[in-house]
Amino acid sequence: MSSASQDNAVGDAGGTEAKRMADEKTAKDNETCEKYVKNGLNRNVTVQFLYERLLQMGCAPPKNMIRCLDCKDSQRAGGFGVVEEIDMSATAASTTTDKQKSDQYSKCAQTKQEIDTLLAKERDGDAKLRLLPQIYLCQQHLRNETHAHESMVHELIHAVDMCRTKMDPINNCIHLACTEIRAENLSGECHWLREVQNGRMLTDFLGHGAKCVKRRAQLSVKANPNCAEKAEEYVEAAFERCYKDTFPFDRHPNLR
Ligand SMILES: [Zn+2]
Repeated sequence: MSSASQDNAVGDAGGTEAKRMADEKTAKDNETCEKYVKNGLNRNVTVQFLYERLLQMGCAPPKNMIRCLDCKDSQRAGGFGVVEEIDMSATAASTTTDKQKSDQYSKCAQTKQEIDTLLAKERDGDAKLRLLPQIYLCQQHLRNETHAHESMVHELIHAVDMCRTKMDPINNCIHLACTEIRAENLSGECHWLREVQNGRMLTDFLGHGAKCVKRRAQLSVKANPNCAEKAEEYVEAAFERCYKDTFPFDRHPNLR
C-alpha cells in the first residue's frame, strides 16, 4: 500500500521543481496583492470613505479585515465573509482555535459542497450560521491595482450593508441580490469609474450600467446554493430599489 507513494517521493524531481516554481509564484502574487491592499487603504478615496463610514456606523473593521489569499481554482477576484457555523453545544465557544480559523480563511471561497453541508445542518436545527466580517482578495486573479481596489470597494459595500441592516444573505436571497446589485453598481466594476477617470462622457450611462450590474449580480447570487435556482428572479425583484440606493454615498460615486 505504501510502495506507490514511496515511488512517487523518490522519482519526482520534476514535480519538486514545478512545486518550487508554483510556490514562488504564490509568494509573488501575495506580495503584489498586499501592496495593492496597502495602497488602497492609504490612497484610494473610495476605499477610505467606506472604511470611515464603517467606523462611524459603529462597525469598526477588525484588524487585517482585508486579506490576500490563494484561491486555487476559484475564478473569483474576492469575497466577503466566511460562512461559519456557530456551534450549538454549550462549551463550544472556545473550541475554535486561531489555527482552525486561519485554515478556514485560507480556503478562500468555500466550495458549494461545504456550504451545502452547513446549510443542511442549519435546516435540521443542528447549527446556526453567520457571516464573519472578513474580506478576501484572490491574489492570483487580480488583473492590476485598479481591479484590486474595485474588488475592495465591492466587498466593503457588503460590509456596510451587513452593518446597517440585519441582512441575512445566507438565507434571504432578496437581501443577497440587493447587496450584490449595490456592490456591483457602486464599485465601478462595470467600468464607470474608469470611464470617468479617463475623462470620457458617458452617454449611455443607465442602459449599459444597469445591464452589466444585473448580469454580474446574477452570477454572484448563483454562488449561494440557497438562491442559485431563481437567481434571475431575485435580482429582478430587488433591482429597481437597490440600484437606486447609493448609501453611504450621496449619489453614485462615479458621477462625482
Ligand atoms: Zn459580492
